[in-house]
Amino acid sequence: MTDYETVIGLEIHVQLNTNSKIFCSCKADSWGDPPNTNICPVCSGQPGVLPVLNQVVIEKGATLAAALNAEIQPVSYFDRKNYFYPDLPKGYQITQYDLALGMGGYLDLPLEDGSTRRVGIEKLHIEEDAGKTIHKPGRRLLDFNRCGVPLVEMVTSPDLRSADEAADFIRYLRKLVRWIGVSDADMEKGKMRFDANVSIREKGSKVLNPKTEIKNMNSIEHGREAMKAEIKRQIKEVEAGGVIESWTLDWDEENKTLSKMRSKETELITAILKSRTCWPSVLMKGKSRRLLKACRSFLTSAKSVL
Ligand SMILES: [Zn+2]
Repeated sequence: MTDYETVIGLEIHVQLNTNSKIFCSCKADSWGDPPNTNICPVCSGQPGVLPVLNQVVIEKGATLAAALNAEIQPVSYFDRKNYFYPDLPKGYQITQYDLALGMGGYLDLPLEDGSTRRVGIEKLHIEEDAGKTIHKPGRRLLDFNRCGVPLVEMVTSPDLRSADEAADFIRYLRKLVRWIGVSDADMEKGKMRFDANVSIREKGSKVLNPKTEIKNMNSIEHGREAMKAEIKRQIKEVEAGGVIESWTLDWDEENKTLSKMRSKETELITAILKSRTCWPSVLMKGKSRRLLKACRSFLTSAKSVL
């Protein structure tokens, strides 16, 4: 029987624990508040408003970038990602596209046998969250409280080799962001969530095969189960002579099953508009150096804690 190797890359969203949102003074943490009570003309995208960048978002994002050994860009820009979805009242999301806050980087994940797995970070950028759609029988309810909440999105290289390793990586990263004080990372409150790109290949091969993407996981244990189920499904498919198609999948936690997401949920028409309507975030050199120094001393002292 062929021996297979699993290849997993993760896309992780972390909510930064700032007092206010990224471009307005609305309260950032709306957990437990009634729907649509922390919104204003800026975060709901009314015509004529001017977003003002919250500097603490950049400082916390840069702290995380430094802790992940990324190269902090002294100047990064925000762009508009245009798409239409009911919980995005503006019709676009302000995000960083090509000039992101952190480029490159890695996190060394300790493994059970005492060695470490170096997991590359391909990109780390800042963006605003969208609102929330609540599905009720026969109708959809919208809560815009999360619109404009600051997020860091990071994309790892496909360096993880099992569902257990990927789950351990999320757990390790959660400890790190809490330790450096940039996020509460409460997954049950949506403050940390991840997508997993999963593929398999014959052991020893260097080829990257078509991958599937499991979306919107907000529990480490459920994520581990979902990835294990998908690896098992892919091996069964390949053993039966089939091919893996690049599906986007949703994990049903109750029934422990994966299902293909409907195309209208995955094929949003997006266009990146380089409007540069927001100011670039400029990190002063001195401040950048202080952040790096603080993070290096953290990494030295934290090895025994993490
Ligand atoms: Zn607001």
